[in-house]
Amino acid sequence: MNRPRPTKQSIIDRLINKPGLRARINANCVSCIYDQAAPGSWRKQVTQCTVDSCPLFDIRPVSFSAKDSTGSKPLESGQRGEIRPQKLGILA
Ligand code: SF4
Repeated sequence: MNRPRPTKQSIIDRLINKPGLRARINANCVSCIYDQAAPGSWRKQVTQCTVDSCPLFDIRPVSFSAKDSTGSKPLESGQRGEIRPQKLGILA
């Protein structure tokens, strides 16, 4: 029996209750692209985002299985969730 898919709002609510910028970025991408009726998890759908002009594109959450095919660099162990301020344009 399949579990019901989480709603977009429930995913966003769960993410924004986590601390840190990573959770906020993830929530933003879910808000932007996730379609509950479309195939794939929210992370897989965000992985498939093609809007490379988006400021968050390079730091969007990407599924581990798809990192090579998206051209995104795999994160090192312990690096997950790390966001360099330079990437966000906060620091020069
Ligand atoms: S990276 Fe893609 S999914 Fe995330 S906010 Fe930008 S356009 Fe939306």
